[in-house]
Amino acid sequence: MSEKRSSILIIYTGGTIGMIRNAVTGALESFNFDHLLRHVPELRQFNLNISSRAFNPPIDSSDMNPALWRRIVEIIHTNYDKFDGFVILHGTDTMAFTASALSFMLEGLMKPVILTGSQLPIGVLRTDGKENLLTAIEIAAAKNSDGTPLVPEVCIYFHQKLMRGNRSTKTSADSFNAFTSNNYPNLAVSGMEIQYNSHFIRPYNAEAKLTPHYKMSSDIIIFSLFPGIQQSVVEKILSSGEIKGIIFRTFGSGNAPKAQWLVDALSAATRQGKVIVNVTQCNTGSVKMSLYETGLQLLDAGIISGRDMTVEAALTKMMFLLGEELPIEEVRQRMKSNIAGEISAS
Ligand code: ASP
Repeated sequence: MSEKRSSILIIYTGGTIGMIRNAVTGALESFNFDHLLRHVPELRQFNLNISSRAFNPPIDSSDMNPALWRRIVEIIHTNYDKFDGFVILHGTDTMAFTASALSFMLEGLMKPVILTGSQLPIGVLRTDGKENLLTAIEIAAAKNSDGTPLVPEVCIYFHQKLMRGNRSTKTSADSFNAFTSNNYPNLAVSGMEIQYNSHFIRPYNAEAKLTPHYKMSSDIIIFSLFPGIQQSVVEKILSSGEIKGIIFRTFGSGNAPKAQWLVDALSAATRQGKVIVNVTQCNTGSVKMSLYETGLQLLDAGIISGRDMTVEAALTKMMFLLGEELPIEEVRQRMKSNIAGEISAS
């Protein structure tokens, strides 16, 4: 008896992978999904049922936003039982934000959701898009011998690496090797074969049920420190009534200037009910606020450690938790604890 063919749903949102150069302006512009598939006849060689949904019009990922994340979540939710895995074609610029957001919005996900894209359009001879797309599909369809998916979580596949989505960051504007998972091992590496790092992949749970979340709060800012930052500017931002959450990008292991005005402004913001999470400006490593005096004072001001979370994960986690309208103390507690594999144990 022949085995049932796996079914994959490709969701095309836009990005360089499906762009073409405008002959007049020279700028890259999106073209439609049928054109994209015409450039990848290899897709027909898969022993899979492949269907697609496309954003109309496709977008440059700089235009991505929570309403469009909701659209992706809705597509996955309504098609969840019909497909074994999902591949999202997405611009690289904000792919790590979308992957992080989806990891929180798709609670109980137990199927692969693999985001990919490319640095060069798929119609260009040297494109990286073909390999990225074909391998992403193969990973989305990969199963264990018992029929359960090999990678039941939201990931980014790019340039031979499969990374947990909420651990990934775009680290190069022009290299094919554009994404890095700095604080968590790659989930797979593709060479002649795809080598899965099973130990680091979220385990499959047959009991889990997909629960989509659609509310994301945007009353948040990312606030980056630099030597010489001005008191008046900082106070204005921290006291703004429109801001409910702040991703506070500090130095090294979570340090900030010792200035009393800064500690006072942070303490006042915390007392007003703002959630402030400390993430480092460094690419790798973790916030440890008790290491230096300059970090300790932040702990006293009620700042929460974002430990080794990426900015993208911290931001979208806060959007998600504030969107759920939980009591502020619960938001603070949950920012520190693991929801979707985005933060390492302390
Ligand atoms: N600007 C493009 C985008 O993010 C870049 C890319 O896809 O690589 O949509």
